Amino acid sequence: MDLNTLGWDPFFAQHFKPFQDQHLAPARVACQHRDLYLVCGEAGELTAEVPGKWRHEACSRADFPAVGDWTAVKPREPGKATIHGLLPRKSRFARKVAGGRERHQGGDTDEQIIAANIDTLFLVNGLDGDFNLRRLERYLIMAWDSGASPVVVLNKTDQCPEIEERVAQVEEVALGVPVHPISALEQKGLEALSPYLGAGKTVAVVGSSGVGKSTLINSLLGEEKLQVNAVRQGDSRGRHTTTHRELLFLPNGGLIVDTPGMRELQVWADEEDLSGGFEDVEELAAQCRFGDCQHQREPGCAVRRAVARGALDPGRLRSYLKLKREIENLTRRQEHKARLAERAHQKNGRKKREKKTPIEEL
Ligand code: GDP
Ligand code: ZN
Repeated sequence: MDLNTLGWDPFFAQHFKPFQDQHLAPARVACQHRDLYLVCGEAGELTAEVPGKWRHEACSRADFPAVGDWTAVKPREPGKATIHGLLPRKSRFARKVAGGRERHQGGDTDEQIIAANIDTLFLVNGLDGDFNLRRLERYLIMAWDSGASPVVVLNKTDQCPEIEERVAQVEEVALGVPVHPISALEQKGLEALSPYLGAGKTVAVVGSSGVGKSTLINSLLGEEKLQVNAVRQGDSRGRHTTTHRELLFLPNGGLIVDTPGMRELQVWADEEDLSGGFEDVEELAAQCRFGDCQHQREPGCAVRRAVARGALDPGRLRSYLKLKREIENLTRRQEHKARLAERAHQKNGRKKREKKTPIEEL
């Protein structure tokens, strides 16, 4: 398999140099199941494992290879390899999971990588009853956070009499992000997606259930590879071998990452992403009289003023405030748990040292 077809580029070549000296070969992860990987490289497909040493040294689950990652492998017996290195990621989708490997190391939440090195993320929305701008905003924030470039795909044009209005509405929310109306079912408008699907380019498809992700992927693959409407997590759990690929090759040379994790992707964001997706609201908030204005009933609130003037959509403000609240709650939860872990650590690890008064008791 040609490395460039697999998405290899100067960025990865640069970071591979130290591994080259160790006579390792580059290979991209096409599927992961627990400790077992399917990787693709110049030698074709190999079943690969990370050595036990890796497991001891990893601080976080994010240190393990995930679908889309480039690794440095040493081929063993025919068809098998050991993974010795992981190249830096150009983009990453992660899931927060409870508990780090070592509680005292990383506090409470850990990150698990769902997919890596995706160039373009198709955010699929249905133009039927499912159409939801607020949800789209949250997906956009998540996309920006990942490092992949978002592209909005409005599917089911065949079900929608007011396509142009919808596109205009989305463009207003998606500030500068390309918006493409298509019908995956009728295979209309798909040519607009081809610039993102060239040789060696990697895309992933996200969106809520029923928007037509499987139908779109099938159309792009030109075959019925995925069962439309099927819930796919069932077919990968409890399986002990990597029999299917989650990095799929498109006929024109592009690659699609389709994993159960990507499909279930939780829209999650932290404070930094919030401003990334709501620059207009944040700009207004900077003009509020009080620095800690909650934009509720405070005097001199520039955000409320903008809503009253009709310059800011009240729905957009609502979703901003909702997301902000969720983030604050999550942050508080994490801080609380981190404090608990810290206290446990103090009890166990520092027993012999001089007794310190815990902060809570001061
Ligand atoms: P997924 O859950 O996002 O993977 O959605 P599916 O691809 O399984 O599609 C959900 C339903 O929407 C199926 O009944 C599809 O046939 C239908 N669907 C998908 N794309 C289109 C489209 O462009 N137009 C219409 N009318 N229906 C579509
Ligand atoms: Zn305000």
